[in-house]
Amino acid sequence: MKIPISKPNLDEEEKNAVQAVLDSGFLAQGKRVAKFEEDFGRYIGAKQAIATSNGTTALFIALKAIGISQNDKVVTTPFTFVASASSIMQCGAIPIFCDIDPQTFNIDPDALERILKKDGSSIKAILIVHLYGLPCPMDEIMSLANQYSIPVIEDCAQAHGAEYRGKKVGSFGKASAFSFYPTKNMTTGEGGMILTNDEELGKKCRMLINHGSKKRYYHEFLGYNFRMTDIAAAIGSVQLKKLDDSNQRRRANANFYNHELSSIPKIETPVVPDYALPVFHQYTIKLKQHRDDLASFFDQKEIGYGIYYPVPLHQQKFIHQIVGNGNYPMADSCSREVLSIPVHPLLKKEELEHVVDLIKYFCQEGFN
Ligand SMILES: *Cc1c(COP(=O)(O)O)cnc(C)c1O
Repeated sequence: MKIPISKPNLDEEEKNAVQAVLDSGFLAQGKRVAKFEEDFGRYIGAKQAIATSNGTTALFIALKAIGISQNDKVVTTPFTFVASASSIMQCGAIPIFCDIDPQTFNIDPDALERILKKDGSSIKAILIVHLYGLPCPMDEIMSLANQYSIPVIEDCAQAHGAEYRGKKVGSFGKASAFSFYPTKNMTTGEGGMILTNDEELGKKCRMLINHGSKKRYYHEFLGYNFRMTDIAAAIGSVQLKKLDDSNQRRRANANFYNHELSSIPKIETPVVPDYALPVFHQYTIKLKQHRDDLASFFDQKEIGYGIYYPVPLHQQKFIHQIVGNGNYPMADSCSREVLSIPVHPLLKKEELEHVVDLIKYFCQEGFN
């Protein structure tokens, strides 16, 4: 039996919730979206919540709403999913990459400081990513951002419920964006959410995702249709109730792996700084050598794994054409060394043990 790298945690309750929407005959955006927005905003600790069609549109609209436009510069990490940078480029803006800390995989505050010292007055926003469910060092990032008066947008697509010093990520920046894709810590099928404490910004986002209108058929500016459906929201409200338990299981699975794998010299297990309560969207190990051999071995043994991400964003063709050559050695080396193994909440004890046994076997046998 194949062990998948991710699996959505769904049962009868989601089925019943979807059935109720179908029975109601109201399928598009309605009261269930409003309820999901309220519940999710309260859970994270943000005053305004705007549900969207996916995480990419949530990022794009958050950037648009704070005024990012043609040729603006927005700092982000090169070691993330493409949407963190493509959403910047969809605004006509230019991503300025900031290298990462290879221990945490998140943006390195010292590298950020160097960029801001050199170019701070021309940077319009900082888009940070809490990668793999590990919060960024928010004290350092917010103090730099405040010093230069630059708004921070948080990409929380992998970090639903993660906490930095007891406060949930998604509540620090000017706005934040979540994704509810089926591989994430909670899902609505496709779906996303923008959170903000700024009422005006929230109103702007709500209009932007709905054809630039407050009142039906009266359009104040160019907008989009990026609305969530009530079907998706009904799933989301059920998933939100399970989120804390799912995240707890992910942490327990990660603890098991740490315990079993951290003494293997050829493998680096993930580091959790003391400011962080992570939610292990991914459990990512590093191998200085033989990463791809372990991946092939997992293919043979039908163990799901992921390489997030094999090509850092400055090397992606359409982005490289815009930003040219840059020097991001930590993102480059991590992209060669990382391998994520199954950590999702539905894994059984035997499956975790099986993964561990195979890794131990590989480290003894596979390195010759
Ligand atoms: C998944 C993801 C997104 C995009 O979300 P979609 O819902 O797939 O559009 C953006 N950023 C990061 C870091 C992600 O992991």
